[in-house]
Amino acid sequence: MEKNYLLTPGPTPLPPAVCAAQAQPIIHHRTPQFQAILKEVTEGLKYVFKTKNDVFILTSSGTGAMEAAVANLLSPGDTAITVEGGKFGERWTEICKSYGINTKVIKVEWGKAVEPKEIEKLLQQDPAVKAVFVTACETSTGVSNDMKAIGEIVKATNAVLVVDAISALASLDLQTDNWSLDVVVSGSQKGLMLPPGLAFISVSEKAYKLVEVAESPRYYFDLRLAKKAWEKIDTPFTPAITTIIALKAALDIIKQEGLENIFSRHKKMAQATRKAMLALGLELFAPEASSDAVTAVKVPEGIDGEKLVKTMRDTYGVTIAGGQAELKGKIFRIAHMGYINEFDIILCISCLEKVLHQMGYKFELGKGLQAAEEVFLK
Ligand SMILES: *Cc1c(COP(=O)(O)O)cnc(C)c1O
Repeated sequence: MEKNYLLTPGPTPLPPAVCAAQAQPIIHHRTPQFQAILKEVTEGLKYVFKTKNDVFILTSSGTGAMEAAVANLLSPGDTAITVEGGKFGERWTEICKSYGINTKVIKVEWGKAVEPKEIEKLLQQDPAVKAVFVTACETSTGVSNDMKAIGEIVKATNAVLVVDAISALASLDLQTDNWSLDVVVSGSQKGLMLPPGLAFISVSEKAYKLVEVAESPRYYFDLRLAKKAWEKIDTPFTPAITTIIALKAALDIIKQEGLENIFSRHKKMAQATRKAMLALGLELFAPEASSDAVTAVKVPEGIDGEKLVKTMRDTYGVTIAGGQAELKGKIFRIAHMGYINEFDIILCISCLEKVLHQMGYKFELGKGLQAAEEVFLK
């Protein structure tokens, strides 16, 4: 018998109500029926983003919203700061370069958080910087950055702060308005418990001023079109109707649990996972800035990291993530993001113990499970 479990940092498992919502017959999008849904989910997204700013829904994966941010805020030749502490931070630099933006890169050792003071220093050195691009949760390394501190720094300058919250949204507390996060982008297949296919972007008043004057070429992701359409509760192009209907189902679940409860659940899942890894004698990849959305763990000496992930998936149906780019084979990542509860974590640790044992790693069986259960019993 085959039974599968998904603990990856995107896509994440779908709640049954989200699956069911997608099985409904399609409706037309230029109708009062769909408009009511669009209005409701946009309000729901504002609750999740903790913002009064406009939040637009784009039809793409999360990276589409990242590209939309660059194309709508900047002009070729502009200067921007990007923070590179992993694969997704690098993506900001790559997108900026594609648009002819002059990027000042802050390189952060993978597994560490950016020092907000470094951003401050660079902003002071060059007042021409128009935007600062940061990753809230660097999914490739399991690191959380201090978005509140960074928000305070950028707020005091002419630059706008652009946040990749693709894996942070609805998993970690992220306060768009209170922390002065000008542009926040996210995607559907992480904390929001949806299939991939939708991206979201919020835009502050400070950022709108740039949208109006930016000279980068743009068409599909032109936020001026999105804003104009939204004035009539509409979208410029055919939206992913079914996924938006599923978004309504996901937001209903989120509202019912409550954001603060969601954050404490993620915190608990992360704590249990980290304690379990340490109890197994494993080392965390980002011990000083570990994210509550995904835990990155060093593959122990003498164990084939890629084989570990592959065996868990192909033999036992438990999918976790390996390392990306330079971390390939060196770490594995357990996501506790979205529709995950304590028994998903227990199951994952149990499978990890089993495969580590089979691969000859020396530890006392059950130690990881015990450590996790002790966290859950508290
Ligand atoms: C998943 C992820 C992305 C990429 O999103 P896509 O939906 O694959 O385009 C970007 N940034 C972060 C932090 C992510 O976790």
